[in-house]
Amino acid sequence: MHECAACGLFQHVPALKPGHVLTCARCGETMGRQRKTSEIGGPLAFCLSSLALYIVLLVSPLMTLNVYGRENMVSLMSGPVEMARQGFGAIAILVALASVLMPGIVLVCMALILYGASRVEMPLWVRPLMAWYERLRPWSMIEVYVIGVLVAYTKLVDLALVTLQPGVFLLGALMVLMAAMDSTFDAEMIWRHRSVAPRHGLGVYRAAAGRPMPPEKHMLSCHACGLTFVARSSVNDESDMGDCPRCGQILRRRKRNSLQAAMCFLIAAFIFYIPANLLPVMAFVKMGHGQPSTIISGVIQLWEANLYFLALLVLFASITVPVLKVILLALMMACECRGKATLASLRRLTRLYKVVVFIGRWSMIDVFMISILAAVVRFGFMASVMAELGVVFFAMVVVLTIFAADLYDPRRMWDAAGYNQEVLDFSRKGGEAGTSELQDMEPEKA
Ligand SMILES: [Zn+2]
Ligand SMILES: [Zn+2]
Repeated sequence: MHECAACGLFQHVPALKPGHVLTCARCGETMGRQRKTSEIGGPLAFCLSSLALYIVLLVSPLMTLNVYGRENMVSLMSGPVEMARQGFGAIAILVALASVLMPGIVLVCMALILYGASRVEMPLWVRPLMAWYERLRPWSMIEVYVIGVLVAYTKLVDLALVTLQPGVFLLGALMVLMAAMDSTFDAEMIWRHRSVAPRHGLGVYRAAAGRPMPPEKHMLSCHACGLTFVARSSVNDESDMGDCPRCGQILRRRKRNSLQAAMCFLIAAFIFYIPANLLPVMAFVKMGHGQPSTIISGVIQLWEANLYFLALLVLFASITVPVLKVILLALMMACECRGKATLASLRRLTRLYKVVVFIGRWSMIDVFMISILAAVVRFGFMASVMAELGVVFFAMVVVLTIFAADLYDPRRMWDAAGYNQEVLDFSRKGGEAGTSELQDMEPEKA
């Protein structure tokens, strides 16, 4: 049995065949998929080659800029270093995390996970590592960084002699290899591993034909690995139910304080959005004269240079996406607070939630581009690019909206509208009230 992470419906699921995709019967979201092959060879090959590329990339130059015979070369590390030198420590840390540290950490995690999974007896540390991998993966933003490099390059190409170095091609190859690694890696493979079978006596529910479904409020599933549990009495939404016996993460029926936490982040993001767009995000200094530019004037520059596609891309990623995220998340929270909604509108909002989570990181394009420009255009009085205060607000908006989407629990909309509530009736009919502990759960029946 599986719980749909988007709407909270528990459903019996037949064993999946290779190539099958499992979608929720109520909201239509993807609940899982079985890859065509669950061999370790494929993802391991992609992972090790990505790791090799990544190490070479750390020391290879990305591009050189030549202004009146003076040359300046940048690499992956130059952006964060230059941001720190200009006094924007927070931006330096953010750029270093998303473009340098996280890709490395994620690749090492993946290599260790695959090594562990290839053993007959899978080591215990693989499970928490797997949960951490899923959590950290979105913060490795190589593909967004590639677009940032592309935008920075097109901004420079008219101004001076700019040459792409091998590092850019390594970066492109790394992006493709990491995508290939993700698409061949089957997370279920880890949880299906023979030595991961959960211990007995913890109430792990095995779906069996003909067995009646327990009431919804008695069930919860692990947020990280999807294992489903059944308790004898109803489970409080937010109480801590101990650690998952399979992956070791904390078990809760719903994300804790999801509405309040997400709302705080959203309001802060909305406030920061105003200075992020009004204040200049960077300044082009030529012969001692600065030309500050805001996000929107950067888009206009690209448009005037006839780079329509890039202009639209940056417009969408930097201006539309943050607004869209704030509006959509606010709509979802309003829907939860109002407490009633039709099935069709809940389905639509649930689908939009997935979109919001997916598009969030793409707003980082502008932050990356500014860090690259500042690092490469460093010719003092003659020509230089300085980051301005606006970029701090802008980065705050991006990070806060990513956190807001992550903290929000879309299942609460369905709860509030009364779709996950067969439960309450059950407890009124004489089910035991109150919270239950893990040991209170039904023992597993094979
Ligand atoms: Zn669903
Ligand atoms: Zn788990």
